[in-house]
Amino acid sequence: MTFDAGKYDVIVIGAGHAGVEAGFAAARMGAKTLMLTLNLDMIAFMPCNPSIGGPAKGIVVREIDALGGIMGKVIDKSYIQMRMLNTGKGPAVQALRAQADKPVYMKEMKRLMENEENLTIRQGMVDELIIEDGICKGVVTESKAAYYADAVIVTTGTFMRGKVLMGHLEYESGPNNQRVSVNLSKNLEDLGFEITRFKTGTPPRVNSHSVDYSKTEIQPGDENPKYFSHDTAEQMVEQLPCWLTYTNEFTHGVINNNLGLSAMYSGAKRGTGARYCPSIEDKIVRFNDKPRHQIFLEPEGRDTEEVYVQGLSTSLPESVQHEMLKTIPGLENAQIMRPGYAIEYDVIVPTQLWPTLETKKIPGLYTAGQINGTSGYEEAAGQGMMAGINAAAKIIGKDPVILDRSQAYIGVMIDDLVTKGTNDPYRLLTSRAEYRLLLRHDNADMRLTELGYDLGIVSDDRYNKFVEKKQFVEGEKKRLRKIVIKPTDEVNEVMEEAGATRLKEAIKAYDLLKRPELSYDIVDRMIESNSEIDSEVKEQVGIQIKYEGYIKKANEQVDRMLKMEDKKVPADIDYDDIHGLATEAVEKLKKVRPLSVGQASRISGVNPADISILLVYIQHGSIARIAN
Ligand SMILES: Cc1cc2nc3c(=O)[nH]c(=O)nc-3n(C[C@H](O)[C@H](O)[C@H](O)COP(=O)(O)OP(=O)(O)OC[C@H]3O[C@@H](n4cnc5c(N)ncnc54)[C@H](O)[C@@H]3O)c2cc1C
Repeated sequence: MTFDAGKYDVIVIGAGHAGVEAGFAAARMGAKTLMLTLNLDMIAFMPCNPSIGGPAKGIVVREIDALGGIMGKVIDKSYIQMRMLNTGKGPAVQALRAQADKPVYMKEMKRLMENEENLTIRQGMVDELIIEDGICKGVVTESKAAYYADAVIVTTGTFMRGKVLMGHLEYESGPNNQRVSVNLSKNLEDLGFEITRFKTGTPPRVNSHSVDYSKTEIQPGDENPKYFSHDTAEQMVEQLPCWLTYTNEFTHGVINNNLGLSAMYSGAKRGTGARYCPSIEDKIVRFNDKPRHQIFLEPEGRDTEEVYVQGLSTSLPESVQHEMLKTIPGLENAQIMRPGYAIEYDVIVPTQLWPTLETKKIPGLYTAGQINGTSGYEEAAGQGMMAGINAAAKIIGKDPVILDRSQAYIGVMIDDLVTKGTNDPYRLLTSRAEYRLLLRHDNADMRLTELGYDLGIVSDDRYNKFVEKKQFVEGEKKRLRKIVIKPTDEVNEVMEEAGATRLKEAIKAYDLLKRPELSYDIVDRMIESNSEIDSEVKEQVGIQIKYEGYIKKANEQVDRMLKMEDKKVPADIDYDDIHGLATEAVEKLKKVRPLSVGQASRISGVNPADISILLVYIQHGSIARIAN
C-alpha cells in the first residue's frame, strides 16, 4: 500500500551527471523539484575516468555553463589539472580537459544541490511510474512512497538492470558495486518502451605507491589554465601531473592468450560496446598492427592514492589484469585497488523521444543521460539540462526549447539521438557537428547565454557581465576598423619578429589581423592599446575577425538549414496517404515523426526524393491527393 509523500512540479530520478543538471535547471526556472537518488553520498559520482571535457565534450561543458548550468562551475572548483587540447589547431577543435578530484567534485555538487531553492533531494529507489490516462503523474519508491508531479525525468544511467562482467564472473549490480535498479526498468518495458542493452567498461585502479613513475613520462597541466565556467576568475591551484606509459608486445601477448576469458569475447556479453571507448581487448584485436597503446596514469584525487589506468578498460578476469599490469613499464609492481570490469545495462531507444526529450508514448515523462544511449558525463549533463528546461517550460507555460545543430553540440547530440537513434554508446565528436566552426569553446556564451537568461537560469549578474563583454567586442572591432597602420620601421620590426612579411603600404588594423600568422596581441603592439578590454574580449575579437570569411560561409549554410527546419510537418500527417514515398521512408517517418522537413531529411533511410515528395504534400496536400 503506497502513502502520499507529496506533490511537486518536477521529479528527477537519479542524481548522476544528467540528474543534477535537470534538477538544477528546473528548480532555477521556478519549478518545485524533487530529486530522488539511490545514495546521497554518490551524487555526481564518476564511475569511470576522473576527467571532464576533451574534444567536443569540453565545449558541451561550456554550453551548459553558458545556459546557467553547474558542471563547469563544479569542475573549476575541483580540478587537479587543466589543459587546453589542440592549441596548435584552429579554435573549432580546441577544447578544455580537466582532471577532476572525484571526491571533491561530488562534495561540491552535493553542496550545490542541498542549497538550491526549489530543489529537494532525497534518498530512495524508484520502482514504478504513476501513469494516469496515459500521462505520467509521479513515481512510487520501493518504500511505497508515492510522489506526484506534472513531469518526471528518468536519468538512471548505467543502473538499469545493470550486470557487471569480469571474465566469467557476472552479477547484478550498478557501477562500483552500487545497488542495481530492476523494477523501474521492467516498468518502462511493461509500458511498451523499446529497450536495448549497451555495455561499457572501466580499467583497474592501482595504488600510487606501487607505481614506478621514473619509467613513465610526465604530463603536466597548462601553466595559465583556462576555465570551463564563465564565472570563474583567475585562481592559483597547485596542479597534479598525469603520467604516460605504453603497453607492449608482452601485454598484447597476455591479452591474446586470454581473449576467451574476456566477457567481451567469451560471448558472455550481450550489450553493444562503446566504439569510441574501446576496451584494451578490443584495441588489441581491432588494431593488431599497432606495437603499443598509450596508457595514462590519472590520479583520482588529491587525498587518495587511487590511480586510474586510462586506456586499459577491460572485462578480463582479475588474475589476467594482474598479469597485464606486470608487463607495462612503471606498473610492474602495481597493486590493484579496484579491478576493471564491464557493465551491461538497459537503454531506451532514443527515437522514442521528441527533441525536448519527452517520450512520445507518455506525455510528462522525460529521459536523459546514459539511459538514452550516450556515453560520457558531458553528454549526460547536456541532455539533463535540456530535459530539466523542457519539463519546467511545459509546466510554467513557456515554449519548448530545442537547440538546433548550429546553436550547440547539445543540439547536435539530441538531434542525432532522436532522429537517427544509435546502435552503440553515442559519444560526441567534433566530426558529428557540420557547423563546428560556429560551435567553439570561446563563443558558447555568445550562442546561449541570452537563452539561459530568458529562461531564468542565468543570473542577472552573469547576464550583465555578458552584455558588457558583447559591447566591448563590438566596440573593439569598430575601433580596429578605424585604425590605420603605416609601414613604419617599428611596425615592420614587429612584423618580422612575428615571421610576417614586411608591410609596404598602410592597412587597417582590422584587415591586418586577418593574417593567419598575426594574433591580436601582435597587432596590438603596432597600435595604441585598448586598456579597457580583457583577454577574453581580445580572444573573441581575434577569432571573429580572423575567421570572418569562414564564419560568414558557415552562417549561409545555417540559413539554408534553418529554412528546412522552419518547414514544419503537421503533427497529424498520415505518411501512408502520401503517394510515391519509399516504403522504408514511410516506415522511418512513422517511427520518428519528425517535427520539420529538415529533421525528416536527417533520418537514415529517407532519401532526397522522399523529401521532395513530402515537401509537395505539405505545401499542396490536397492537390497531391487529387492527383492520385
Ligand atoms: C563501468 C563504467 C564505465 C564507463 N566508461 C565510460 C567511458 O569510458 N567513457 C565515457 O565517456 N563514459 C563512461 N561511462 C559512462 C559514465 O558513467 C556515464 O556516462 C555517466 O555517468 C552517465 O551519467 P548519467 O547521469 O546518465 O547516469 P549515472 O551517472 O549513472 O547516474 C544515474 C543515477 O541514477 C540513480 N538511480 C538509478 N536507478 C535509480 C532508481 N530506480 N531510483 C532512484 N535513483 C536511481 C543512481 O543512484 C545515480 O545517481 C562509464 C560508466 C561506467 C559505469
